[in-house]
Amino acid sequence: MSFQRALDEHFPGSVTEHDFAWGTVRALGEHGFDGPNTIACVSVCRDELTRPLADEIQKAWGEAFNFSSLAGMLFLGKTGFLSAQHHAPRVGGRERYAFFGLSHVALGNEGEVGLCARPGRDEPSAACGALVAFRTELSEGHLRLELDPDDVEQSLLKQRLIGRIRYGEVPDLVTLTKLTHDAIREDLERTIGQTVDPAKSDCAVLTGVNVHGPDAGYVWPGALYAVVSGKRVELALG
Ligand SMILES: [Zn+2]
Repeated sequence: MSFQRALDEHFPGSVTEHDFAWGTVRALGEHGFDGPNTIACVSVCRDELTRPLADEIQKAWGEAFNFSSLAGMLFLGKTGFLSAQHHAPRVGGRERYAFFGLSHVALGNEGEVGLCARPGRDEPSAACGALVAFRTELSEGHLRLELDPDDVEQSLLKQRLIGRIRYGEVPDLVTLTKLTHDAIREDLERTIGQTVDPAKSDCAVLTGVNVHGPDAGYVWPGALYAVVSGKRVELALG
């Protein structure tokens, strides 16, 4: 299977990283958001493969607050969310936040899921490595769920995701990547509910899966909406 066929099959409707980032600018521009009046908050995996997307978002929106943990999970909590909000510009008496949250996966030349080439390494590498490691523990039946102080983010990732997996099942990597996206989205929305005051702030929820191809990166869009003056509006990247 070619890369393109695998992308269409597993992540239909994906757009390039550039079109995703600038599509959010166009879509949110219709609702009063722009670079100077908005702070972008970005959660992607720590993997350097996600850097081009994070850079594209920063080119589109300006310097972003870093929400990232392994796999793009949101472990910064209310304190992190509130810090970002305290850095936001206040224009016309309102603050505006654009919250990005993405899981990620590589697709190889032949459409192999999870495989990518990395400079200076002969053997293929895995992405997302944190999810592949979790999946390996699941398939080998020796899952450790206690909080390991020497492996905090991976412990939290496993604790957060295990409840989304049916007992005894080992999801394939595409499914696990989408489950991770769903958890990121849920955590984003819950913490927004706990920290954002719609009476004084507008915000956008922009989620998806970052797919790394052999030659370019893509985004499979997930939730795309804004809450403006307390009212939810759906966004299209168009
Ligand atoms: Zn990763």
